Amino acid sequence: MTNIENIKVIPPFKLKAKDPKCSARTGVLYTKHGIVKTPVFMPVATQACVKALTEKDLEDIKVECILSNTYHLYLRPGTELLEKMGGLHNFMRWNGSILTDSGGFQVHSLSHLRKITKEGVWFKSHHDGSKHFFTPEKVIEYESKIGSDIWTCLDVLIPSTANEREAKKALEITKRWAKRAATKYHSMVNQGIKQNADGSFEVPHSLLFGIVQGSIFPKLREDAAKTMATLPLHGFCIGGLSVGETRAEMNLALEHCIPHLPEEKPRYLMGLGTPQEILDCISHGVDMFDCVWPTRVARNGQAMTSNGRLNIKNAEFRTQDKPLDDKCDCFVCKNYSRAYLSHLFRSGELTSHRLISIHNIRFLTHMMEQVREHIEAGTFLEYKAEMEKNYK
Ligand SMILES: [Zn+2]
Repeated sequence: MTNIENIKVIPPFKLKAKDPKCSARTGVLYTKHGIVKTPVFMPVATQACVKALTEKDLEDIKVECILSNTYHLYLRPGTELLEKMGGLHNFMRWNGSILTDSGGFQVHSLSHLRKITKEGVWFKSHHDGSKHFFTPEKVIEYESKIGSDIWTCLDVLIPSTANEREAKKALEITKRWAKRAATKYHSMVNQGIKQNADGSFEVPHSLLFGIVQGSIFPKLREDAAKTMATLPLHGFCIGGLSVGETRAEMNLALEHCIPHLPEEKPRYLMGLGTPQEILDCISHGVDMFDCVWPTRVARNGQAMTSNGRLNIKNAEFRTQDKPLDDKCDCFVCKNYSRAYLSHLFRSGELTSHRLISIHNIRFLTHMMEQVREHIEAGTFLEYKAEMEKNYK
């Protein structure tokens, strides 16, 4: 068995700038499919597709990394098929980077049954009730077949109402599973990341991120971060947040884990997507974000704009001959009026879902471009305050 004790990984992450007044930072993560400039927003492609969009749309709105999900892809279309089709990139014709969530969250939230053993977790498919068993090692094998650029370790999720004793028990299993996932990973993947003279990296294989759990309990978050920091991982996910806790509880959890994570590795906060929350977490030093929120609200007619949320169903927009957001450079804002989008939505035309989704994702990728510029100019906190004032 591979002994991971002495393995030192090279994180292919170049830190560029740090804000002098808070923990915000910019960087570049290198993957086998290119670069991801951080802080980054990653749209969610759970079923090998960002809902209502094509890969060309994602390229046009300057998306560099998307998120997909091992639980969903394993159940449908199946990891064997994906491997046969040349991996997820080839299957969905996406040339950018892909991060796959391990499925711990979905096993917890979607499955009709979840039974955790020392070895792994039993669950029932939410499609047909069939029974399946995930182990940390099997999840690494599935992610390898999917061929994503960033793999994550299987973890144990608990309800947000769980007490500290339950959270500790789940964390102990998550820590053991992360070690097993890292052992499996290093038995399959030879290190071969090289840094060039200009500071860029050559990355010949997929990367592995561990998941920091510990719910809202500061001591557990600290313990989780310290343990993950000792493992040969390329980066860290911060999981189990954005599940119903207050903003103060989330901030406290972040304050107790981020300082214990090595600065030279990227940090990704799972499942968080409103502009205010993202900006808050960036000020704590989080680099990567994902959320279904921008595309989900788009299908309900809600657009994110520099003046806050706009509901295209409101009567006032039926006659307005101006774009969703005059500060946005997306294809939709350049071409279509609020009146047209209002008409499409009211007529039940699916194109309205697509157009508002394009705009909402561009709103966030554009916001991240501005965030990076402001961090590098040392004016991030001013930008954050301005956004919080305007975005209602
Ligand atoms: Zn737009």
